[in-house]
Amino acid sequence: MNSTNNTSPAVGLVSLGCPKALVDSEQIVTGLIQQGYTMAADHASADLVVVNTCGFIDQAKAESLEAIGDALSENGKVLVTGCLGAKTEDITTIHPKVLGVTGPHQADAVLQSVNQHLPRPHDPLVDLVPPAGLKLTPRHYAYLKISEGCNHKCRFCIIPAMRGRLVSRPIGMVLREAEQLVEQGAKELLVISQDTSAYGVDTRYQADYWQGRQIETRMLDLARELGELDAWIRLHYVYPYPHVDHVIPLMAEGKVLPYLDIPFQHASPDVLKNMRRPAASENTLERIRQWRSICPELVIRSTFIVGYPGETEADFDYLLEWLDQAQLERVGCFQYSAVEGAAANALPDPVPDEVKQERWHRFMQHQQGISEQRLRKRLGRIETVLVDEVDVSATGETLQARARSYGDAPEIDGQVIIEDADTINVGQMIEVEITGHDAYDLFASPRN
Ligand code: SF4
Repeated sequence: MNSTNNTSPAVGLVSLGCPKALVDSEQIVTGLIQQGYTMAADHASADLVVVNTCGFIDQAKAESLEAIGDALSENGKVLVTGCLGAKTEDITTIHPKVLGVTGPHQADAVLQSVNQHLPRPHDPLVDLVPPAGLKLTPRHYAYLKISEGCNHKCRFCIIPAMRGRLVSRPIGMVLREAEQLVEQGAKELLVISQDTSAYGVDTRYQADYWQGRQIETRMLDLARELGELDAWIRLHYVYPYPHVDHVIPLMAEGKVLPYLDIPFQHASPDVLKNMRRPAASENTLERIRQWRSICPELVIRSTFIVGYPGETEADFDYLLEWLDQAQLERVGCFQYSAVEGAAANALPDPVPDEVKQERWHRFMQHQQGISEQRLRKRLGRIETVLVDEVDVSATGETLQARARSYGDAPEIDGQVIIEDADTINVGQMIEVEITGHDAYDLFASPRN
């Protein structure tokens, strides 16, 4: 008899394997108890059974498969996790009726699977908290963090020292959070990390479960699956590794916003090498040309550093020429400044402050012309925008609305200013006609 008609739902747990697997089991039990579940003494009294498997040697595999079979025949609702779960097909070919499979060290994913198949009990203290957690952004957009840390060693940056090496979140967990955010009202998801292109490298692209399918923890797969949600998907912190080419067709198909945030930081090969930037040897200009030939709407935003130690006048001129050819839409620029603990502090040939300042002004002026030209090309186009703010006068009259198009990320890019915004509300997606522009913003009228 199970507890369905009783009080809290009960979960059975079979824990096999080594001490590391035992720690995983402890985390699963802790999480379940914290969420209000109870632990069942046997399969018959459980509402669902989790089998934490071992795949170390053949005998351990056989024991794990037998334990799964017992749980299926005595209970029927079975989730499998642990080392044997790293090769899902080893389990599903023998036991196709299991509800889900996760690999080792995935307590969070196990808890989410349990929540999915056995709804957690009502807790008045925490149930008002939305499933994807509390957000500090407006309801209509949300940041989706896919990993923490970074495996690179850019000399000006202390993030790897502060946050450690890359740790990617399992793709199933990221997709579940994305789905919940959309259910909670987000119309735009902004994918963030330190290095989005490297997503999954640390886990060797470990497969995870999403909607009953196996998917690898990889940037392209993530973009493809996010593209199925009813929301704008915007990719930030993308390094131009070769596999980024495969994401561009998703942008051309309208699955993912045709927007790439690529922090180039410089263009001169010598400066990039001196910075130790990832993908420094890629021929980015050629890549950008190819991307635009596949997806002409593509908007690229980037940041640059001028005055990095050793940057010569020739390096700087190279950068300006590169900008002419790259024709980036949205660009930010910083003057190099030393960060405590960064390796770049020890480099010779610092650039004097007045030279940094002068290069920064020249850079900004140069890029401004390019950005304006790119905005001008959009005049007369009909575009969908997402409304962020509506300005209202003291008498309650709507003055104008501030929205963003596919080419504008919140906080860092420009806006679309809409006059005649009478019936427009924050969080709405509307169609507008682009009627004007200045150096950074577009002006538009609503289409009725
Ligand atoms: S700048 Fe970015 S890629 Fe380079 S080390 Fe820092 S976080 Fe990593």
